[in-house]
Amino acid sequence: MHAEIAGAGFAGLTAAIALRRRGWTVRVHEKDAALRAFGAGIFIWENGLRVLQAIGAAEDVVRGAHQAPVYETRRDGVCVAFQRVNGDNRYRLLTMTRQHLYAPILASALREGVEIVTSSEAVGARPEGVLQLLDGRSLQADLVIAADGVRSVVRDSLGLFGTRRKYQDGLIRVLVPRSGLVGGEWDHVIDFWAFTPRTLRILYTPCEDGMLYFAMMAPRDDATASALPVDPAIWADCFPALAPALAAIGPGGRYDVYETTHLERWSVGRVAIVGDAAHAMPPTLAQGAGCAMMNALSLAEAVSNDRDVAASLQRWEAQERHLTDHTQARAAELARTRALGSGTQWDDAGMRTALHVPTATLPEDYARLRFT
Ligand SMILES: Cc1cc2nc3c(=O)[nH]c(=O)nc-3n(C[C@H](O)[C@H](O)[C@H](O)COP(=O)(O)OP(=O)(O)OC[C@H]3O[C@@H](n4cnc5c(N)ncnc54)[C@H](O)[C@@H]3O)c2cc1C
Repeated sequence: MHAEIAGAGFAGLTAAIALRRRGWTVRVHEKDAALRAFGAGIFIWENGLRVLQAIGAAEDVVRGAHQAPVYETRRDGVCVAFQRVNGDNRYRLLTMTRQHLYAPILASALREGVEIVTSSEAVGARPEGVLQLLDGRSLQADLVIAADGVRSVVRDSLGLFGTRRKYQDGLIRVLVPRSGLVGGEWDHVIDFWAFTPRTLRILYTPCEDGMLYFAMMAPRDDATASALPVDPAIWADCFPALAPALAAIGPGGRYDVYETTHLERWSVGRVAIVGDAAHAMPPTLAQGAGCAMMNALSLAEAVSNDRDVAASLQRWEAQERHLTDHTQARAAELARTRALGSGTQWDDAGMRTALHVPTATLPEDYARLRFT
């Protein structure tokens, strides 16, 4: 059995590795010339770690990633939530640069014999199992996967696009050196919110190798705070404790508006849509990549247990989708209400995905993963 995959992001590579491990030949097409991750930093919860363990990438991800002892929320300078994480606590949450997460996944894909073609752009697909490339070729496969991200052209070529909803806020994501912000409270993840004199948020996140990830939320209608390059004075005014780090922000970064993509269905014929192409969500639960990897792994498992690919894709969606729909809806609600400004909101509904044991992961394998 052979698969052609569009997109070498977290979803595409996870699916590729999982298929290879189940005996498939796999070719991944990445439109960019280089294989790398975009978007500064990332939070990975236990559900994501379980998938990483199942694709042979967990140990290298855990090694060096930051394990904060506490996740705090501060609102207008006052601590409103103080939640212990990691160690013996209920919630395991690792923080890291995106490249720290991406490199071990890519290494695992190459070890498993996944063929990855860079500068290879997909432009569409046909339900009978054909991936169409910009260079004019049409590649036949038993399974085609569209893992080409939120603006997926493969999905759109099949008429599968459903609805897109944008929210009031967006995030600028940057990496800055920790320079002095080390030890004690500065090893915590701290969700700084300001509601006066304007609504802004900085999710302060230590990563590996002395780097900090700042996820800086600004309303779409705040033209100066949402603009790039970041104006440190605007942000330091609301978050004076972070002034030195804010001053070190360079000209890079990007501002992404919170959005949700919702499809009627996740497959047609032999073509599956996975990751942000199928279910982009606001980052308020930090579960987009977690869901992308869970769904990519369970997709590989589903099509490997049944030679009727089209039927197995429908069963895969029926089995897995409800959790992603739930996660999207909860993430959207948090985006709409800005409830994170009053504390973590880590209730059963919010934490259901983080605590989920994904399909095709083995608890005994995960138990072998060492966090010290
Ligand atoms: C501000 C923000 C913060 C976030 N924080 C977190 C977090 O902390 N934790 C978390 O779990 N998730 C987080 N997410 C969500 C996470 O980034 C995504 O869910 C995840 O990256 C989706 O992976 P993907 O592989 O589906 O898509 P992508 O990561 O977008 O990868 C798609 C790949 O396909 C390639 N591609 C695109 N078009 C084509 C084409 N036509 N042909 C070939 N290749 C193509 C792209 O170059 C890219 O390599 C966040 C998202 C945002 C916007």
